[in-house]
Amino acid sequence: MSHKVIILGSGCAGCTAAVYAARANLQPLLIEGTQPGGQLTITSDVENYPGFPKGILGPELMVLMKEQAVRFGTEVLQGDVTKVDLSKRPFKIWVGDQVYEGETLIISTGASAMWLGLESEKKLWGKGVSACATCDAFFFKNQHVVVVGGGDTAMEEATFLAKFASKVTIIHRRDTFRASKIMQKRAMDDPKIKFVLDSAIEEVMDLAQGKVTGVKLKNLKTGQKSDLACDGLFIAIGHKPNTALFKGQLELDAKGYIVTKKQPSMATDIPGVFACGDVQDSIYRQAVTAAGTGCAAAIDAERFLTHHAS
Ligand code: NDP
Repeated sequence: MSHKVIILGSGCAGCTAAVYAARANLQPLLIEGTQPGGQLTITSDVENYPGFPKGILGPELMVLMKEQAVRFGTEVLQGDVTKVDLSKRPFKIWVGDQVYEGETLIISTGASAMWLGLESEKKLWGKGVSACATCDAFFFKNQHVVVVGGGDTAMEEATFLAKFASKVTIIHRRDTFRASKIMQKRAMDDPKIKFVLDSAIEEVMDLAQGKVTGVKLKNLKTGQKSDLACDGLFIAIGHKPNTALFKGQLELDAKGYIVTKKQPSMATDIPGVFACGDVQDSIYRQAVTAAGTGCAAAIDAERFLTHHAS
């Protein structure tokens, strides 16, 4: 049996697409992916999602969104898509050995945290190296942790970590920040948070001990090298889109994001395939913009089905 709409990914974009598709009576199949609920499930307070003046916890917001999608008839499948065939309709989606067919497809596979790309970072992952303060801050009570990055994520992670750690050092490769003024100020006003600017991490120590004991730094202006002792390292240097499955089948931009036609559609270069949320957005990347594009993609899919009845 072919589904009218299959949605890949269950973050803000996917869940909103599911609410709209389900309310249009399209009985969407929502395949949750490896991180059910998406990136908001590893964040803490969401203070800028309209309708929640006191803020809401990210995981809580995602539980509500999924509940809303299910209420209107979304079928939720736990699992991760392993292969897709977009060469003709109905599109084929594999979850392991199981194949699902969809008249239309909404891709909302999101984006994942980027890594510095150091061998030592990889080897000490989970042994003091993390990309999720909400998940791991508790382990660093009264310790010194380093956060790398200069965007909102770095400021947010540092501010959250400072509630547990005795000291937090933000290491940034430039002397100005990409982070919004309010998040910067919050971090700068926190007496536990210090900054090391114009610097890159060249190595995470100590592989011999099998745990994080410090980082080797290089000042990018002076070339001077130094060691900074710490107990944990949080990587907060941005995200990359989860589009490996679609390479060679869908048009991607230079950074790997799916190209959507926008103005006014979430269509990709394949008729019947739509994309929404962070997988096609390298600019805004907000929960509310993801939800907005999820809504648009579902409306696009519904209109497509009306004009291309099979
Ligand atoms: P950003 O892309 O905004 O920032 C990434 C940061 O990491 C930049 O400062 C960048 O440096 C630095 N960086 C990138 N690559 C490297 C590298 N290899 N080595 C060292 N540093 C590196 O990503 P974020 O995850 O911070 O934010 C993504 C989006 O999510 C933004 O739109 C942000 O506003 C939003 N967001 C909003 C939040 C909120 O409002 N509550 C919370 C968190 C995120 P450089 O500046 O030099 O390029």
